[in-house]
Amino acid sequence: MVVNNNAAAVLLVLSTLAKGKEVIVSSGELIEIGGSFRIPDVMEQSGTYLAAVGTTNKTHLWDYERAIGENTGALLKVHTSNYRILGFTSSVDIEELVKLKDKYNVPLIEDLGSGVLIDLSKYGLQYEPTVQDSLKRGVDIVTFSGDKLLGGPQGGIIVGKKEYIEAMKNNPLTRAFRVDKFTIAALEATLRYYLEEDMAIKEIPTLKMLTMSTEEIDYLAKELLLEINKLDLQSKVEIFIEESYSEVGGGSLPLEQLPTKCVVLNPSGFSTQSFENELRKFSIPIITRLYKDKIYMDVRTLKKEEFPIIAKGIKTSLENLERCNG
Ligand SMILES: *Cc1c(COP(=O)(O)O)cnc(C)c1O
Repeated sequence: MVVNNNAAAVLLVLSTLAKGKEVIVSSGELIEIGGSFRIPDVMEQSGTYLAAVGTTNKTHLWDYERAIGENTGALLKVHTSNYRILGFTSSVDIEELVKLKDKYNVPLIEDLGSGVLIDLSKYGLQYEPTVQDSLKRGVDIVTFSGDKLLGGPQGGIIVGKKEYIEAMKNNPLTRAFRVDKFTIAALEATLRYYLEEDMAIKEIPTLKMLTMSTEEIDYLAKELLLEINKLDLQSKVEIFIEESYSEVGGGSLPLEQLPTKCVVLNPSGFSTQSFENELRKFSIPIITRLYKDKIYMDVRTLKKEEFPIIAKGIKTSLENLERCNG
């Protein structure tokens, strides 16, 4: 089932499966993501009652078990997709929670947040739990975003046991959260790529950028430098390649630092800020990163077809600045 976003998905799932009842969550998983999505607040909105168990750094199986009672509506596991708790920690594995929910016959919900369909650890990234792994392990309902690591349009995806999904369809919130035809079309187009993993990695921009090889990054950096140098701007701006890191962002893979290369611009005679403004005002806006008073362009996020546009944008921006100065 697909709704507007994952926040709506979580709200709908909780409201359908556990309204008027308690939902047991580990204290270490009471997340806030952007836009005031907070698990305790979402729970309140859904008409369920939060039963937080364990502590910030440690939650044990017996914490969950002790909290289960007559009024338990569900167990909720939230993937901490935008932060990590490190050090003296423990959390309860999905396998253990599945045994527990079977013993007490309560549904187990997992909010995966950025949920992916491909095991990214094969490509040198941190392991991020896949939707298939959760379902295989026996989770009843899994929710995740369409527009984080999946790389599709904004949306919230709910998968799992048919009886629960059917119940959600009858929840009046479903109409309020429904998606339009464009979302469905874009999501379908994205998911088709996933039928073949190689295609998904190649064609979905998010995955392509995340899994780009160092050879390709090297190549792109050199090509971009060449393209800009063709325009003989060296007297107005210093241009060179620098090693750097890409951040994944979007609330996904918070500790991941991907080695990359940037083409760096250091203008002479103009402030870096005014140069950055000009680039942004170019007919095809060029959005760059300002760092230590230089402009950084991470080639991981660029396509070769865009290089002539970028070179032209740099040239035009410098001309505009000269005209203002003159
Ligand atoms: C991002 C995220 C959400 C909200 O997803 P949206 O699609 O942005 O609404 C909910 N839960 C977790 C764990 C998340 O990481």
